Amino acid sequence: MAQYVNINHLKFLLREVHGMEEVLSLERYQDYDLDSVDMLLDSVKQFSDQELYPYFVEMDRVGAKYENGTITAHPQIRQVLQKAGANGYICAHFDYADGGSQMPHMASIAANYISSAANNSAIGYIGLTAGAAGLIKAYGTRELFDTYVPKMMSGDWGGTMALTEPQAGSSLSDIVSSASLNDDGSYNIKGQKIFISAGDHQCADNIIHLVLARVDGAPSGTKGISLFVVPKKRITDEGLEANDVQTAGEFEKMGQRGYVTTHLVFGENNDCKGWLVGQENKGLKYMFRMMNGARLEVGLTGSSIASAAYYASLQYAKERPQGRRLDGSGGKNVDSPQTLIINHPDVRRMLMLQKAVVEGSSSLLLLCAKYLDLSHYSDNEEDRNKYNLLLELLTPIAKTYPSEMGQTSISNGMQVLGGAGFTTDFPLEQYYRDNRITAIYEGTTGIQSLDLLGRKMTLGNGAALKLLIEELKTTINSANTYDDLKPYASKFAALISDTEKVLTHLMSFAMQGKFERFLADASIFMEFFSTIVIAWQWLQMATAAKQALVTGQTIRAREFYEAQIHTLKFYFKYEVPKTKGHIETLLDSEVLTIVEEGKEIAAFA
Ligand SMILES: Cc1cc2nc3c(=O)[nH]c(=O)nc-3n(C[C@H](O)[C@H](O)[C@H](O)COP(=O)(O)OP(=O)(O)OC[C@H]3O[C@@H](n4cnc5c(N)ncnc54)[C@H](O)[C@@H]3O)c2cc1C
Repeated sequence: MAQYVNINHLKFLLREVHGMEEVLSLERYQDYDLDSVDMLLDSVKQFSDQELYPYFVEMDRVGAKYENGTITAHPQIRQVLQKAGANGYICAHFDYADGGSQMPHMASIAANYISSAANNSAIGYIGLTAGAAGLIKAYGTRELFDTYVPKMMSGDWGGTMALTEPQAGSSLSDIVSSASLNDDGSYNIKGQKIFISAGDHQCADNIIHLVLARVDGAPSGTKGISLFVVPKKRITDEGLEANDVQTAGEFEKMGQRGYVTTHLVFGENNDCKGWLVGQENKGLKYMFRMMNGARLEVGLTGSSIASAAYYASLQYAKERPQGRRLDGSGGKNVDSPQTLIINHPDVRRMLMLQKAVVEGSSSLLLLCAKYLDLSHYSDNEEDRNKYNLLLELLTPIAKTYPSEMGQTSISNGMQVLGGAGFTTDFPLEQYYRDNRITAIYEGTTGIQSLDLLGRKMTLGNGAALKLLIEELKTTINSANTYDDLKPYASKFAALISDTEKVLTHLMSFAMQGKFERFLADASIFMEFFSTIVIAWQWLQMATAAKQALVTGQTIRAREFYEAQIHTLKFYFKYEVPKTKGHIETLLDSEVLTIVEEGKEIAAFA
């Protein structure tokens, strides 16, 4: 079977880079140790090899079919949901008391990475079911939990997150779906939701939608949005009956074609019942809790697809002879045998970029997973607050960098294959199509960038950024222990000063009340700052590798550690200098994208 993930690198990140022991020492995780986590990852890899990877191409080719109000997904989805349920993979992080196995987020996110690299469409059904169940557990009553969650955890029922409406995508304050209180305490739900992933299919016996809607008379804007559990089929004494949730269509998509995306109509016949989760008008706040987790999952999707693409192009480059090396034994002599393309510097550059993006982004995701664990379960409040702030600050980057740079990395992978990369004989074109959505759903790159610059950089009156800078300085100090890492540590320290300079400049607009000017280039700021955050990951990975080599405590081959240090150097030579261009743009006083009202179109004449 072709390689799609490097499980060895994930284990390196958990054990040697991000110190998973700290998480495993928490009271909650006393039943886990590093070896049991390694074993878990091995068993998830086996599951992915058997149940996910073999169906990856077929799910794309067959796609989902909409006919007579129902959608047919690939039948393997039922098998995946059932087996994931039986193995306890759905909601594995839940408490023992709730049927979970209290699995650390670090472990479950690493496990999801493996499955997603194997088949990013199939894994979406599990992720959404777990997310929807998590929302019911966090904010719903015990009765709601008992009614829905066990069947979701067993894989019998699926779950969704139904936010988007035709007029309310990025701007959820414009949601108009309505909810009217019934005498029995339920609500009558009415409205349309579009683009709902896993919204309808035959592979689960019921689908539990977590729907945002407005209770009659609720305030306008985000303060009037409530959250409801709306099952496709409601439960009666006789069994399940239809709940007036109609499937109006399935969107034909360029990628993730095995992952259905539906248009749903709730309450067309005035007979759709929903049950309030938590309190009225707090729905968006609850949903955001799920969305933060979902944003990490989308980042994970981007990074893991890029991982599968990287290994596919690496394999090709090791086998494809073409041309001759310019120097050395081949020279320009056409009578000498062709060299493998992996020997050409330009091909090596593309492969190294892929490696740098894939491993750099997976490192950031597992660090966020660590912060997630510590923010929930550290035994003192100060630490919980600290890690929560760090997580909040890094989440938009953990969503955006793997999506955007994952796409660039896959594009480079396709280039490695030359013409073959553009054909359906190889999986690169599918990875390219599948990944493209990750920069769009769960908040577009534009929206994540507004969040990063507009909210997160000043979060807690700047406390989050201050904490992050402390973490960056700790890494610099560790790297400075090794002479050959010192130049990179010092380049990295200069990036912190650059960030401060850029922020001082941009914040001055916010202080003058010029918010459009402040945020106009938020996406460029995202590119700039995420390049720095990934440089930080590389400095951490190289320092851990160097430490292993120097101390001789090498759990993996020496080559593996040396390749980590080599990739750090690559990242600092080829990626970090791009921040100079970002700075030039961010500090430039010329304003070209802000327009006076009434003159919107003129620039495009
Ligand atoms: C395959 C797929 C699956 C999906 N799954 C789900 C799901 O399961 N549940 C769900 O609820 N939704 C889902 N979505 C919806 C998805 O989250 C939205 O498409 C996304 O949030 C963008 O909204 P939109 O499409 O309305 O685009 P718009 O909001 O119209 O955005 C269009 C462009 O304008 C930019 N823009 C918008 N507002 C601003 C602003 N204020 N400032 C700067 N730029 C702005 C955006 O960045 C974007 O570039 C899915 C979508 C797709 C395509």
